[in-house]
Amino acid sequence: MATSFIGFGSNLGNRIDFCDRAVTLLGLLPHSRLEAVSSLYETEPLEDGAAPGPSWFLNGVVQIETNIAPKSLLEICREIERALGRDPDNRKGPRTLDLDILLYDDCILRESALTVPHPRLHQRRFVLAPLVELDPGRRHPVLGQSLQELLSQLTDPSVVRLLDPQPNSRYGSRPSCSAPPTADPHT
Ligand code: ADP
Ligand code: MG
Repeated sequence: MATSFIGFGSNLGNRIDFCDRAVTLLGLLPHSRLEAVSSLYETEPLEDGAAPGPSWFLNGVVQIETNIAPKSLLEICREIERALGRDPDNRKGPRTLDLDILLYDDCILRESALTVPHPRLHQRRFVLAPLVELDPGRRHPVLGQSLQELLSQLTDPSVVRLLDPQPNSRYGSRPSCSAPPTADPHT
């Protein structure tokens, strides 16, 4: 199985719900296992080639083990984006859901529809912060540096902060779920 990290982001509508649904759907993929989900981060919208509007994003990253090939995984990501209401006529605008394949094992792919590692991964705080939470020592297959090193060298000035409080979630790797059950009177 390959280890892939997929970034998700939403800045339109019920952002927590779109992120949660995206994680749920990614957790249902055949020949795959959802290994970990990062915390959710509130992030300032960037205008780097897109026009997402003024609404802040919620961003996070999932780690999956999968036998699905990278191109098929991209198709599935596009399908999930569509299913969750991404406007196909204004992809660069505000979006209910964006899914990006950040890493796929140590694969290096440079095709017109798919570049892996994601070409802007190492420049984006909103990607590196949740990635470092999941696997700080993993090396970028092209640059050779660890994700932690890339984050510490970053000059991206945009604001990225942990969403507080984190939503309750069924994904055990989120910090909000690691509290003992007695801490929540509703459980
Ligand atoms: P962005 O995520 O950059 O805001 P889009 O989601 O519209 O914009 O993606 C633009 C294109 O990027 C997609 O059509 C997709 O084919 C391409 N692409 C290239 N590499 C990747 C990748 N690693 N993950 C997701 N999309 C990618
Ligand atoms: Mg995208």
